Amino acid sequence: MTQQVRVRFAPSPTGALHVGGVRTALYNYLFARKNGGKFILRIEDTDQTRFVPGAESYIMEAMRWCGFEPDEGPEQGGEYGPYRQSERKEMYRQYAEQLVASGHAYYAFDTPEELEKMREELKAKKVANPTYNAITRMTMTNSVTLSEEEVKTRIDSGEPYVIRLKMPSKEEVRFQDLVRDWVMVHSSTLDDKVIMKGDGMPTYHLANVVDDHLMKITHVIRGEEWLPSAPLHVLLYRFLGWEDTMPQFAHLPLLLKPDGNGKLSKRDAEKHGFPIFPLKWENPADGEQVAGFREDGYLSGAFVNFIALLGWNPGTEQEVFSMEELIEAFSVERITKSGARFDIAKAKWYNEHYLRAESDEQLGAYLQQSLKAAGIEADDAKAQKVASIMRDRITFPADIWEQGQFFFRAPQDYDEQAVSKKWNEDAVKALLNYKERLASLGEVTAANAKEALQATLDELGFGFGKAMPALRIAATGAMGGPDMMEIIEVIGKDEMINRIDQAIAKLS
Ligand code: GLU
Repeated sequence: MTQQVRVRFAPSPTGALHVGGVRTALYNYLFARKNGGKFILRIEDTDQTRFVPGAESYIMEAMRWCGFEPDEGPEQGGEYGPYRQSERKEMYRQYAEQLVASGHAYYAFDTPEELEKMREELKAKKVANPTYNAITRMTMTNSVTLSEEEVKTRIDSGEPYVIRLKMPSKEEVRFQDLVRDWVMVHSSTLDDKVIMKGDGMPTYHLANVVDDHLMKITHVIRGEEWLPSAPLHVLLYRFLGWEDTMPQFAHLPLLLKPDGNGKLSKRDAEKHGFPIFPLKWENPADGEQVAGFREDGYLSGAFVNFIALLGWNPGTEQEVFSMEELIEAFSVERITKSGARFDIAKAKWYNEHYLRAESDEQLGAYLQQSLKAAGIEADDAKAQKVASIMRDRITFPADIWEQGQFFFRAPQDYDEQAVSKKWNEDAVKALLNYKERLASLGEVTAANAKEALQATLDELGFGFGKAMPALRIAATGAMGGPDMMEIIEVIGKDEMINRIDQAIAKLS
């Protein structure tokens, strides 16, 4: 029987989830679904000093908004719980002790001052990267250098200590990453990482490996920033005797700044004015508010589609994918090694695409929200009609109102440039003539409004260019916008006549 695929997303609740984190979660989810496996959420909260209240629920809400949720996790429960590391605290110590007993780890009693002194001395000797390692451990206060008795006395007397991994001095650590292929690191470049802290909490490395083992994780799909930790994890699996069931690793490419130079940061997003978080985030520490894709008007389908293709491609020309199609098309083999440039224009393109596909009812509902906020009442039929006219012109739902206010109220002012170019005596003549024709119509439609305009032009011997811009200015305050005759049909003839009167009064 083949083993069931089990993957996990393992965020630390230290703040809002960055778009790179959402992508990691998404790829794990897609991989699980594609392979009929399970997607697990594990909260890695062993570092109490970095714990941020609200971060866990933010992560859950972000996933829900994106349209995927874990099969097992703190809210869902599951056979391998608890799914918060802080609730698994007791499970880790035995493995740290097992490593000490098998000679792969040791107790270290050094005080912060002693550690600082060691670093200073090494720096003075021009050691580029002063660390606690196979060489320096021999000069420090630990169970490698102290006698067994001394160690026992210190522990029994309650002296604080940490447990460090005893990094082999000369060994090549290799593993085959599903994205980067063979990764090889010499153990002499690695330090004796603390695996159990003085407060009895495991560090990330130990907890992460122990949990991946206990939760029967088959594939570790995570960001490239964890690649340097992977050799250490590989050694932990080996030293704990779990090499046979070690998960396969896939390290995802970095998200790069819009210009492709360097890692995308929150500051870049701020500088360019685009969001980097899926949902808005209020930092509980200082009340700082940061925008989110959702609040900025991105549809979740567009957002998911956008991030899915940041670092993965289907190998075809297809760009638009529903979640089902993503699951179907997804494969780790097509994850790219090189960083993915974060191009917000692409996110907007997706949003436009997804908005075009929305129903009139849905678009009308967006518009009603804006209208409500502006204190304007309109019936749903009109809101839907306007929304459907605006559909092809908008990037965000709020644009329906932003760019289509004239459907609901007369222009408050007129675009000066347009007026100076297009507003003149002939234009006024045409508008006055047209107004009379409109007045004589029954119910106005785009078609009969157009016939009336043609009749005006014929009578005066004018081309469209003389009358149409002025009509637009009167109706909307500016040039450009959706079909003018449709605008007249929606606002109605009385309103159009009023606007012509208003514009002539104000502009002539
Ligand atoms: N807790 C780590 C993080 O915040 C998890 C890394 C991993 O997936 O192993 O990203």
